Amino acid sequence: MNIALIAHDKKKKAIVQLAQTYEHVLNVHTLYATGTTGTRIMEKTGLSIHRFKSGPLGGDQQIGARISEGTMDMVIFLRDPLTAQPHEPDVNALIRLSDVYEIPLATNASTAVLLLKELENISEI
Ligand code: PGA
Repeated sequence: MNIALIAHDKKKKAIVQLAQTYEHVLNVHTLYATGTTGTRIMEKTGLSIHRFKSGPLGGDQQIGARISEGTMDMVIFLRDPLTAQPHEPDVNALIRLSDVYEIPLATNASTAVLLLKELENISEI
């Protein structure tokens, strides 16, 4: 699967922890991320990630474009709901496109864990 990983700044630590815990699940998939999120995860794991631009500079839109082209299969986007984001319209557009194309989308760590556990189960079958 093609999986996109994104985290707002206050959620970067959480997405790194998630990637570390589920590295064995993620490493059989093709991974994409917004710029800073991808760098942080690669620094702390052995995962190889294609990095798009940073979110505020268009990275969310690049991932949205992949969704609309049918080349992104899952999105894990740890949002910070308590901090205003300069690129809020891009964030909303990405979430909207995930719903338009019915792409599995996790916007918090609890949902992300459920999706990753399901991927783990599928890979064991
Ligand atoms: P970043 O972008 O990974 O480059 O920080 C994430 C975002 O804020 O959308």
